[in-house]
Amino acid sequence: MKKAFSKKNLWGAMPEPLKKLAGLALSPIPLSYLIGKKFRDTSALILSADKWSRKQVDQYHLSKLKDQVQIAYNKCAAYRKLYDDAGIVISSLQTLDDFKKLPFIDKSFINNNIDDLLLVDKNGSDVDYVTTGGTSGVPLTFYINAGRSQIEYAYLVDGWKRAGFKLGDIKAVLRGRVTGAKNGLNRSYDPIFNEHYYSNFHMHETDMQSYVSHLQSLKACFLHVYPSSVYQLARYIKKKNVEIRNVKAILAESENVYPEQRKFVESVFNCRYFSSYGHSEKLVAAGECEHSSNYHIWPTYGYLELIDEQGNVITQKGQVGEIVGTGFMNKVMPFIRYRTGDYAEYVGRYCDKCKRNHLIIKDIRGHNVQEHLVAIDNSTISWSAINMHDDTFDDVVKYQFYQDTPGVAVIKVVTNDKFSEIQAQRIVANIGGKLKGRISVSLIVVDDIALTNRGKSVFVDQHINVSTGE
Ligand SMILES: [Zn+2]
Repeated sequence: MKKAFSKKNLWGAMPEPLKKLAGLALSPIPLSYLIGKKFRDTSALILSADKWSRKQVDQYHLSKLKDQVQIAYNKCAAYRKLYDDAGIVISSLQTLDDFKKLPFIDKSFINNNIDDLLLVDKNGSDVDYVTTGGTSGVPLTFYINAGRSQIEYAYLVDGWKRAGFKLGDIKAVLRGRVTGAKNGLNRSYDPIFNEHYYSNFHMHETDMQSYVSHLQSLKACFLHVYPSSVYQLARYIKKKNVEIRNVKAILAESENVYPEQRKFVESVFNCRYFSSYGHSEKLVAAGECEHSSNYHIWPTYGYLELIDEQGNVITQKGQVGEIVGTGFMNKVMPFIRYRTGDYAEYVGRYCDKCKRNHLIIKDIRGHNVQEHLVAIDNSTISWSAINMHDDTFDDVVKYQFYQDTPGVAVIKVVTNDKFSEIQAQRIVANIGGKLKGRISVSLIVVDDIALTNRGKSVFVDQHINVSTGE
C-alpha cells in the first residue's frame, strides 16, 4: 500500500543547526503561521466541512468533480480520448450518479499517457515528479504540485487533533528517518515541530532500550509511528516489563494496521491507537474519529468510491471493495476514478458517534504482494493470518518470510543472545501448525533484516509473482 503523508518540503530539508536557530529566532510566531497560509486555509476548510450536512457534502463533491472532469477533458488528450471512446458526453454529467459512467483509470493508464495528462508545464517550479512503488512490480510515475505539503499536513494534524494533539505538542517519532547517533542513542530533534526522531533502522535491543529510556524522560507526548515499528517496540517493552505512562496516543500511518497488533500496542502503552490512511497519489485520505476506529474519509481532500469486482459502486454495509479515488489536490495532473489496488469494507456515509457526514470505511488493506505467501496449490495466504501473537517469537527481535517457490518458505529471524535451538524448532512447529501443510517452513538466523529505503518493514520478501503463482 502506498500510504505516505510527509512534511519533507516544509522543514525536513533544513539542516539541524539551522533549525535550532530558526526555533529560537521564530519561537514567538505561532507554528501554524510558520507552516504557511495554505495550511491555515485548509485547516479552516476541514473544520467547517466537519459540520456539513449530507447535502452540502454532495454539492461540494459534485461541483469539484464537474470542474475536474471538464478541465481534464479540455486540456488532457488522454482523458479526451478515454471519454470519447467510451461515448461520454461531458455536458451530460449533472449528478453524482452520472459520474459513475466514467471509465476507471489505473497505474498503466497514468504511466502510458504521462505527457498527455498534464494541465501545466511539467518543468514549472511548482511541479514535483514522483515515483512510487515497492521492491517489486512496475512503479507509478506522475507529476503533482510541489506546494501540496502544507495542505496535506493540515489533514494529518486534523486527524491527530482527534487524539488530543495540539500543534507544537511533543512527539516521539519512529518512522523511517535516519538519525545521528550520540552516546548510544540514535536520535535527532526538531525544535520547531517539537519532534524527537528515533531511528527505526536501528532496532536491536540496546537501541530500543535507549529509545524507551529517552521516551520515559519526556513529558506527556504523542508517539508517531509506522505500525510495524511500534509493534516491535511494544514487544520489547512488554518483554522487559517496563511501564510507560506518558504517551497520550499512538499516531500511526503508512502501513496496514492489524487489529491484534493495535490491541497489543494499546495495552502496552496504555493509550489509544489512531491510524490514518493516505497515499502518494494524494487522491483520498482518512482518519479515525474521537470515538470510533473506523476510517472517516475527509470530504474536501478527494472523492472515494468503493467498487465491487464488476465495477459497481458499493453502498451496502459489510461489503468489501477496491478503493477508487479522485483527488482534489493535484493541480498538475488530474487523477479521475483511479483504482488504487487498496481494499476496504463499506460502513456507511455518516458516523453516528461524532456526527460527521463523512464516508466511513474500515479494515483498509493494501493489495501488496509483500504481505502474502503462496501455498503449494498457488493460493495466497495473508501474512496477518500467519502472524503469531503468543510467545512464539520471544527472543526474536525481528522476522521476515522469504519465498521463491510456491509451498515453501523460509523464516529469517534476528535474535537476541538467549535464543536457542529449542525456540527455533518451536517457531517452525507453531507456524507450520497454522499453515497446515500448505507451506513447508524452515528457519534461519540472520544478522539483520533490511527495511525498504523509506524505512518500512517488508513482512514477506516475495519472489513469486503472486498474481500468477509463477
Ligand atoms: Zn466518527
